[in-house]
Amino acid sequence: MKGDYILAAGKKKEIPIPDGAEVYDVTGMTVLPGLIDSHCHFLWMGVNMIRTVNIRDTPSLKAALEKIKQKAKETKKGDWVLGIGYDESKWPENRYITKNDLDVLSMDHPMMITRICGHLVSLNTKAMKIADITHTTLDPQGGKIDKGKDGEPTGILKDCRYLVEPYIPAVTEEMNVEGLKVASDHALRLGCTSIGDAGLGADGLRAYQTAFDKGYLKTRAYIMLNDTVHKHSYDLGVRTGFGNDMIKIGATKLLMDGSLGAHTAALFEPYTDDPATKGLLRMPEEELDEKAKNAHRNGNQLAIHAIGDYAIECVINSISAVLKDKPRKDHRHRIEHCEVLTANQIERIKELGIVPAVQPNFVGEWASPGSMYEQRLGEERNKLNNPFRVLLDEGITVTFGSDGMPFNPIYGIWSAVNHSIKESRISLVEAVKCYTFNSAYASFEEDFKGSVEPGKLADIAVIDRDLTEIPPENIREAKVYMTLVAGKILYHKGL
Ligand SMILES: [Zn+2]
Repeated sequence: MKGDYILAAGKKKEIPIPDGAEVYDVTGMTVLPGLIDSHCHFLWMGVNMIRTVNIRDTPSLKAALEKIKQKAKETKKGDWVLGIGYDESKWPENRYITKNDLDVLSMDHPMMITRICGHLVSLNTKAMKIADITHTTLDPQGGKIDKGKDGEPTGILKDCRYLVEPYIPAVTEEMNVEGLKVASDHALRLGCTSIGDAGLGADGLRAYQTAFDKGYLKTRAYIMLNDTVHKHSYDLGVRTGFGNDMIKIGATKLLMDGSLGAHTAALFEPYTDDPATKGLLRMPEEELDEKAKNAHRNGNQLAIHAIGDYAIECVINSISAVLKDKPRKDHRHRIEHCEVLTANQIERIKELGIVPAVQPNFVGEWASPGSMYEQRLGEERNKLNNPFRVLLDEGITVTFGSDGMPFNPIYGIWSAVNHSIKESRISLVEAVKCYTFNSAYASFEEDFKGSVEPGKLADIAVIDRDLTEIPPENIREAKVYMTLVAGKILYHKGL
């Protein structure tokens, strides 16, 4: 490589090494294009690494509560205790956290503990008091305040955390910038050289620019605009692709449903483990149509969150309508997550050239027999969930991202190769391509990154073993040996 770019690629003997070149021997390792997590919440992840208690890997509800209690002890009385990452489906208790669980830990701190999906939060009584959530509070549009048999709120909010968030002290700009620094270093350790930040407003954009100016931002960012700002981007005349190869304005991000974990992904048929619900739409279909049309007319790419088959149907209809309204050839409109799919929807996705932006690690986390997906969907419908093999066989460009659950591309690759539904497995090479070239495609950048080829940016991840020689089930044990961005070694395991 020379400067920021790759000069030549091939086997050792094929490439003459110029005098004075630095040579690194990586025999027995795997040289991959820098991994691109096309959907995560990078800024949010970094800030959370600084200010919250992460209860993601706790073995039980009891253990999680113990960690929260400890955090409360370290927190000044009256200040909020914030937790993230809880996944009740991994606990023997297998239930959401309620106010009763939290109230016994501390009555002096308001608490908000966010489920791993981000769509469900658990509050203690003090937090509900502050946010004025009582037995008379009505469910907002697209959300649900869970209530017990006594009619009192249980502390569980589904898809309406915004009822509480205004009462939590806002994240400062310094915290955002520091968060990006922490997130960026974390990403490099995992071989990730580019990310798609799936939905930010003005504060987020500002933080990215500051972090870039200070030299903190080392991973390339494709920043999707959330609902609060995408209208302003039209006023500014800014659209998808504006920026440089470090920071770029990405798609317009819209949310159509919730998550399977929170029973809020919108399905055609009821949930198997809760037949009273089919999930929720975050907005009426007409509103989605209108927002999608405006973004598309502005020249933006769309990135619409839809997990359940019903929400996906609405999104496909919307995209189809905007393309009729104003045809555009290379739109690369994306459906974020795009999980529970019917055969007809796969056909339409192919015809319309939609890019499913899926999370292979979700499969690793929740798709094994008897686990969360099967509980929610039942055995038969679960087979339609995350059908990577069919999507690739149809010639659809699938892009991989983690959504931060966990943020770790190698784990995602392992999950796709070892999909618990055998018919949906893909090969190692295919999985790597989804996490590199296809992710570059999903941000209109495959001309200059996403593969190790002369002329492309020298973003490289070196993995500490030969991935093609190890049993597929062992891929997740592989570690990143070295990460380069624009030809510079920014992470080295040995250093
Ligand atoms: Zn997301």
